[in-house]
Amino acid sequence: GELGPEQTGLVISHFGKQVDVEALTGDMAGNIVRCHLRTHLGQLVTGDQVIWRRSPDGGVVVAVTPRRSQLQRPNNQGELKPVAANIDQIIITLAPEPRAHANLIDRYLIACERSGIEPVLLLNKTDLINDENAAWLMPMLEIYQQIGYRILHASSTRDESLGELKAQLNGRISVFVGQSGVGKSSLVNALLPSVDLKVGELSEQSGKGRHTTTTARLFHMPDGGDLIDSPGIREFALWHMDEDEVLEGFVEFRPFIGHCRFRDCQHLQEPGCALIAAVERGDITEQRFRSYRMILNSMQETL
Ligand code: GDP
Ligand code: ZN
Repeated sequence: GELGPEQTGLVISHFGKQVDVEALTGDMAGNIVRCHLRTHLGQLVTGDQVIWRRSPDGGVVVAVTPRRSQLQRPNNQGELKPVAANIDQIIITLAPEPRAHANLIDRYLIACERSGIEPVLLLNKTDLINDENAAWLMPMLEIYQQIGYRILHASSTRDESLGELKAQLNGRISVFVGQSGVGKSSLVNALLPSVDLKVGELSEQSGKGRHTTTTARLFHMPDGGDLIDSPGIREFALWHMDEDEVLEGFVEFRPFIGHCRFRDCQHLQEPGCALIAAVERGDITEQRFRSYRMILNSMQETL
């Protein structure tokens, strides 16, 4: 059939061999067009920037721009497959209730580091901070701040508290991750009034091994910036990682790696371990080192 001229577009959702493309140029600009893919393109995913042409039954994607980042997850055969592209930052959401677990935050940070995507910590439900939870929450956040991670504050139930978060989201493609109940759906609702996800509806179930088929979807926020969201993406830190990636995910450990007495040091209890020495000097916190060991142990148990 007849094809229209080449136009740029943004994949806002993907379904197997088809994608929904938002037209960025041309007479269709701003519209969403269901497109087929030229076969040499491989799997396109939400967030991909493409060249597409109009066809009698929708459109055809003819080229894709190289990705600046991608989130990948293993399929049933254990092969890594992309699930979203061009994400600029991952907002790791935590709250005083349910109590934030440093170990889970560290798993998210590892996943960000290995994907090459900038992590930002967001303390939500600041309206629930009191003397009791501040006693464990503030020292924990202090550790992440010392390492160099940015920490934002919000309360999704109070719109006037969202300015700092909106400024961070503006001009970037972001995803929210974090344990169930910290307020991710509430935040997405507050940022995207017209979409109205039911609170609790998109929440991941805790625990591994649950497969969700819902595809990632990209949304434009009225105050600027884009969100990519799906239940699967929200649990991405629980996907498989290998031991080297875990070690590299603890960024403040990096200066000490390669300085242990034994080249194959696992940094558990070997003599001459440079990491253990750094913990003893206070250059690495006990909390993060404990967390590293926990993650490594849990991986070795499942092997
Ligand atoms: P998700 O599982 O991370 O998507 O969390 P939800 O958005 O479903 O929120 C879980 C619960 O926390 C709901 O009962 C929300 O009403 C509540 N919640 C969300 N944000 C806030 C907040 O900023 N302050 C308070 N007090 N409650 C909140
Ligand atoms: Zn060591």
